[in-house]
Amino acid sequence: MNFSHYSEAPIRFAADLVNTGPLDRESFEDLETVADLRAFLAGSGFLDVDDPEALTEDDLEAFRRLRTQLADVFLASDERTAARSVNQILDECRSVPHLTDHDDAPLHLHYAAPEAAPAQKAGAASAMGLALVLVEDGLKRFGVCASDDCIDVFVDTSKNSCRRFCSDKCSNRTAVAAHRARERSKTQ
Ligand SMILES: [Zn+2]
Ligand SMILES: [Zn+2]
Repeated sequence: MNFSHYSEAPIRFAADLVNTGPLDRESFEDLETVADLRAFLAGSGFLDVDDPEALTEDDLEAFRRLRTQLADVFLASDERTAARSVNQILDECRSVPHLTDHDDAPLHLHYAAPEAAPAQKAGAASAMGLALVLVEDGLKRFGVCASDDCIDVFVDTSKNSCRRFCSDKCSNRTAVAAHRARERSKTQ
């Protein structure tokens, strides 16, 4: 964690969580069950849940709610709206800075109390991550994939904030499609 620049893990987590669900809130759902949530958190490599087996339906509900709130930050039309959404998450997660050296890690900051629920810990850390992005660079760092058939969000950490796609996969697919379209128009 470096306070003068983004910490990538929490902001990547925020985008990954938003991308488990539909931005239009109906086309798909990657967090259908508690098992889905467990798998997502294990794969996210960011949040250590003390006991994944103890996650419940309530946690699932809380993570889905957090996802909606984080999506509001990515989709905000202006900085003030984004800031309001970030503040709301920090408030609801009762974010408090907390120094820890758990599991032999060097001393570092957590943004929620040790007894906070998993979704509160995740919410506090990811909202802090997005807050730092917003403060340093504003909304231009928050993006939605430019590919026609993808609505995934991302935080653009490139030097000159020129990123357009959520992933190399989407970028390549779009490049290939554009190339084919050019080839077709040549032969017509
Ligand atoms: Zn930690
Ligand atoms: Zn994409």
